[in-house]
Order: sequence, then structure tokens, then C-alpha cells
Amino acid sequence: MVPHEKYEAVIGLEVHAQLLTDSKLFCGDSTAFGALPNTHISPVTMGHPGTLPKTNKKAVEYAIRMGLACNCEIEKDNYFARKNYFYPDLPKGYQISQHTTPMCKGGHIVIKTTAGERNVQLNRIHMEEDAGKSIHDMDDNFTCIDLNRAGTALVEIVTEPDLFSAEEAWQYVTEVRKLVRWIGICDGNMEEGSLRCDANVSIRLKGEKELGTKVEVKNLNSIRNVKKAIEYEIDRMIQLVESGGKVQQQTRSFDASTDTTFSIRDKEEANDYRYFPDPDLAPFHLTDEFINQVKAALPSLPNELALKYQTQYGLSEYNATQLCDEKATADYFESVIIHTTQYKAVANWLLGPIRQYVNEAGTGIQTIPLQAAVLADLIKLVEDGKVNFSVASSRILPVVIAENQSPLSVAEKLNLIQVSDTDELETWVAGALEAMPDKVAEYKKGKKGLIGLFVGEVKKRSQGKADPKIVTQLLEQKLNK
Ligand code: ADP
Ligand code: MG
Repeated sequence: MVPHEKYEAVIGLEVHAQLLTDSKLFCGDSTAFGALPNTHISPVTMGHPGTLPKTNKKAVEYAIRMGLACNCEIEKDNYFARKNYFYPDLPKGYQISQHTTPMCKGGHIVIKTTAGERNVQLNRIHMEEDAGKSIHDMDDNFTCIDLNRAGTALVEIVTEPDLFSAEEAWQYVTEVRKLVRWIGICDGNMEEGSLRCDANVSIRLKGEKELGTKVEVKNLNSIRNVKKAIEYEIDRMIQLVESGGKVQQQTRSFDASTDTTFSIRDKEEANDYRYFPDPDLAPFHLTDEFINQVKAALPSLPNELALKYQTQYGLSEYNATQLCDEKATADYFESVIIHTTQYKAVANWLLGPIRQYVNEAGTGIQTIPLQAAVLADLIKLVEDGKVNFSVASSRILPVVIAENQSPLSVAEKLNLIQVSDTDELETWVAGALEAMPDKVAEYKKGKKGLIGLFVGEVKKRSQGKADPKIVTQLLEQKLNK
């Protein structure tokens, strides 16, 4: 057993998010994922002599967007520096980065924990270019290099050492992914490497103020791996310290096949990156006007919106949060409630049958062939008692979508309009009660729960067309006579 109770884990995360710009940070090369290796590599990407980089304005805008969404202070006077080091996937021999002078400072990201919401403090968000990719498993004898990714625009989002468990780190990365997708700056796709995380982990005795020696686990490519790697590191460090050892400052890597980490280098030989301002790139000044434009174009953020849905529309916290998990869902919700004030019903439809449809179709809600007004009509059919919810969602919805017809005409065509005409209902009710004399007797002796059975029987006899509300009333009148 690992004695966790004596220790506290401290974690700081560095998340790299690839910006959704069409072209790279300093040239016009395409950033499309999955292209043939080494086809998006202009002389600028390759750092050939005589080439000049030019900053991508959209990338700057996206970085500011992220900064504003996280309540950072935006630095107006910026420049890019060269971080010099040799690596095969770094064609220029240096990376252009804002590492030492970030554009966004401070700020926070809200996470949900079992103890409630908490702000995780950020240290900074800065811009930099990505490196290429080294591929070790393609050839037996060689490492292959694909430089398509080299020069792609990134923001690096760096927290303070302000996370205290693997679970919190998991929550944090989940929130970051949601946020970057929400504000449209990154697709958040960790499998394709658009979002990558380095986890810095240390432990200290509970109550201790000073930070322990950290290790950095590099390039975690899924939220699960972030959690697993941190869990493994915490256990490893505690066991090491408990058995009289000392944590070494190290850079480590995660092996997803065994859920363990291994050392790739000791930090003792600290790199000297010889940072200096890139002489080919002029410093750039952000005007208030530009920052305000970016601010004005920023959508309401998920937490704000979820709160609004609870206070203004009376949704539960759970439903409000679920609707705000993805911007397309919230956008669709907004477009439906233009046509109806049945807010809770809309939420239930979106999180129930519509979500199920989208999942089964393998598409996103943004491309669902169902106009918001048509869904509102379907909801109205249910609210007016013309059809019940289960018939509406399981039988009418698929036809409305497939045949692009109005919910009412589909309900009529399939003969699904609920019968609320009392004469017809009376016949079914009488038939149901006659068929179950024993149960009727039990009901009369006080087993009131049997009402559901009778309603079910009437539903069966009417082939689902009997309006259950009226049926219940009729049954009660008859039985309580
Ligand atoms: P480095 O120069 O090694 O990259 P930084 O000071 O820039 O270190 O911090 C990188 C990340 O590591 C930040 O997210 C920071 O919060 C985190 N960090 C720093 N020290 C510790 C520590 N002792 N334990 C856990 N995380 C830490
Ligand atoms: Mg680092």
C-alpha cells in the first residue's frame, strides 16, 4: 500500500494547443492534418537562407481570444524570440517562441471538483511554432522525419503549480479542451496531437509550504494518459521517498501499454537555449482597438451560459452543463427556443433523442437535417397532448428527419395522433377493466399502484394512441366509484 495520506501531490500542466489557422505561424504553408509527409514545407518552414518569416495575424487573434477567455492580462508590446537547440525535427535549428515574454499573463480556468468549482491559476499563455514529427515505428533501421507540422501555430497554456490530484488534472484538461473548441481556436483532437499535455508533478508532506522536486512527463496525448501518468508518478515518488530515496529532477515519458513512466533525461545538464529576439521579425504592438474587436467577437463562455440556462430558463444544473458541453449543442438549443418557451422540454429532447440520433448517425448536431422550428413543432405536438413523448421520439422523429415532413403530417400519416375523444377511450378503459377483474378487486382493496397496469393495458388496446392523462382520469373515476 502506498501511504498517500501523509503526502500532497502538486501538479502544473503545460498544454500545447494547435491553432485552427489554415496556414502556419510564419508562412503560407497549409496546416492540413494527414497530408503526404514533407509536402507542406516551403523554404520558410525549412529555414533556408534568404527567407523571411511573416506573422500570421489570425494566429495572434486566436491567442488573444484564449487569453481573454481565461481572464488573462494581455501584453500589448510583443516580440518573438529564437530558442536555439538541435533536434532532427527542428529544421531551422531554433524554435520561434514567446517563451520568455508571453502575450497573456495570469488568468485562470474554472474546474469542477467534488468540493465545488475552483479557479486553477494560470501562469501564462504564449505563442510559439510547432516542431516536425519524428516517426520511430515506420522503419526498422531509421527514424523518419515529417516536417509538415513544423511551423504550425501553437499556444502554450501554462498553469501555476495549482492542481493537487490526478483527478483535478483530468478535470482541467477536459475544461481546456472544451474551452478551445468552444471559442474555435483549436479542434482539441488529442489523438491527432492538436492538443498535447506535459505534466509537472511533485510531492510534499501535507502542510509543507515549499514545493518538492518535480519531474516533467512529456507529450501526453489523451486525457486518460494525463491522469494515468500522474497517478503513476505520485505513487512512484511516494514509494521512493518512503524507502529513503530522493526524487530526481527528470524529464520522463509515458508508456501507455503499461501505464508507467520512464526517465528520458536528467535535468542536471540544463539546456542553454540562448534566447534572443528574432531579428527577422519586427516586434508587434497590439492596439486597444484590435483587442476590443477580438473581445467583441468572443462568444458567451460555457460557464456563463450554463448559469443563464439555470436562472433564466429554469434548467437543472446537470442539463444546463450538458447543453454547454459543446458549442454546437448550445447553439442549437438557442435556435430552438426562438420558437418555443418549453425550455425544459427542449433540453430533454436535445440531451435525449436528438443526442442519440446524432451519435447513431455519427455526425455532429451542427449538421443534423432538422430545422429548429420543426423540432419546436414536434415538441408542441407532445405538449398539446396530441402524441406522447415516447411515440414522438421513437417513431415520429426518425420519419420527420428522413422524409423532411412536418411532425403533424407524419403523426397523421402513421395514425399516431392520440385519441382524447372520450367515447372511444371509454370503450378501451371498460375493456381493460373487464379483462382484469382480479386486479380491479385488489385495487379496490387499496393496491393503488395497479393504476399503472391499467393504463398500460389501455395503451396496448389503443396501440399507443390513448392519451395517458385522460385515460388515468377515466380509470380513476371508474375505479373509485
Ligand atoms: P521549466 O522551466 O522546468 O519548464 P517552469 O517554472 O516554467 O519550469 O514550470 C513549468 C510548469 O511546471 C508550470 O506549469 C509550473 O506550474 C510547474 N511546476 C513548477 N514547479 C513545480 C513543482 N515543484 N511541482 C509541480 N509543478 C511545478
Ligand atoms: Mg517545461
